[in-house]
Amino acid sequence: MLYLSTRGHPARKRFCEILLEGLAPDGGLYLPEAYPRVDATTLERWRTVLKEQGYAALAFEVLSLYIDDIPASDLRALCAKTYTAEVFGTPEIVPLKALEQGFYLEALSNGPTLAFKDMAMQLLGNLFEYELARRGEQLNILGATSGDTGSAAEYAMRGKQGVRVFMLSPHGRMSPFQQAQMFSLMDENIHNIAVEGVFDDCQDIVKAVSNDLEFKRRYRIGTVNSINWARLLAQVVYYFAGYFYASSANSQQVSFCVPSGNFGNVCAGHVARQMGLPIGRLIVATNENDVLDEFFRTGTYRVRGSADTYETSSPSMDISKASNFERFVFDLLGRDADRTRQLFDAELRLHGRFELGSEPLFAQAAGRYGFTSGKSTHADRLNTIRSVFERHGVVVDTHTADGVKVALEQRQSDETMVVLETALPIKFAETIREAIGRDPQRPSQFEGIENLPKRVRVMSADVVAVKRYIGEHCQAA
Ligand SMILES: *Cc1c(COP(=O)(O)O)cnc(C)c1O
Repeated sequence: MLYLSTRGHPARKRFCEILLEGLAPDGGLYLPEAYPRVDATTLERWRTVLKEQGYAALAFEVLSLYIDDIPASDLRALCAKTYTAEVFGTPEIVPLKALEQGFYLEALSNGPTLAFKDMAMQLLGNLFEYELARRGEQLNILGATSGDTGSAAEYAMRGKQGVRVFMLSPHGRMSPFQQAQMFSLMDENIHNIAVEGVFDDCQDIVKAVSNDLEFKRRYRIGTVNSINWARLLAQVVYYFAGYFYASSANSQQVSFCVPSGNFGNVCAGHVARQMGLPIGRLIVATNENDVLDEFFRTGTYRVRGSADTYETSSPSMDISKASNFERFVFDLLGRDADRTRQLFDAELRLHGRFELGSEPLFAQAAGRYGFTSGKSTHADRLNTIRSVFERHGVVVDTHTADGVKVALEQRQSDETMVVLETALPIKFAETIREAIGRDPQRPSQFEGIENLPKRVRVMSADVVAVKRYIGEHCQAA
């Protein structure tokens, strides 16, 4: 299996080469040269694998189609070590909760940080440790977070050999629960840096450090952001698992509704569907930041400025552009790399938008690729949380509520629908209280975490200071 860039760079790479990289050298995103097709016999076998050997064994089956530069026995061991009931709370790993006949939530949020990002990040941590040991190298991960990504990365990388994490967050702006989750980690290799500024200041510092190629090389700086192919690949697995749990035979179709921000989660659904998984529709649910909903309704992709990017009560979906979206557009354009480069490099840079609505191929987004979309507002979120609680006794988080709202609106009478549950409500307690007048349940391992000692360095929004801190805490090459 070889990987190419969506912008046409001539190089072809293997999985472990792109594992530790971010963007391709030409600014594109990596994709496999072709999606492996899963035939009916294999699909039948995988259903049995999940049932008899469990999620980790299914993960191995899916991943081994894409990873041929890790010996099979090692890859199997990495999957087994990652997807355990101890880490993810249940033997099913991603159990379904039925709200009604044919309408399910897929629980992706029972990992260490209570958001679906653990599903991919936990595997990434083990893959990084394995590959770095094999190369005899070290990696210093630098990132910026406003919540879910940073904590998922830290819990995945804590205590791992060869990896250090430097995570910037806006000082005093994360919820107390999120701060406690991150700052209570006492592992030597985890560095929390609270920047006196907003999230954008943190991101600007990460960009400035990454643009200093000499510093980046000298201190082996890497990232774990959502464009990493390995993260996306790990997410493909739970579409297969969700499909098998929701259906009794492979003749059935199942639709997925996905609370979306950067288009990473639902892009994994697109990959699963391209592999031949009988997915009916892929429904993209956004909040007020409706970049993606606008595209799937009209064919116009319009990047928002910071004044048009709203802070909402489903904050992990507050995006101004969708960083994984280029992967789908590349496929939609029939894998025309020149055209992809022209749209994402030239057009977006010059005009901040591109339009495909008047072109015949836009109709394929819905027709051939099964995509539709919808959006949700704060009021919708409150209503949905309240009505799901009243009718089913289940409390959903604000992001999952966006998914449920759109799924209910779009579901056809005979359609089997799975909504991906992307976080647990305890992470967003304030909105839950607003909706149902009581606190969400807190998993026992999180009792009292706000009172634990904290390990965090507060710093001004200053690139030089951050570089100095990194330099002091790791060895240069
Ligand atoms: C990251 C995140 C999302 C958005 O996922 P994308 O892959 O960026 O589309 C949705 N919900 C929660 C809780 C998240 O943490």
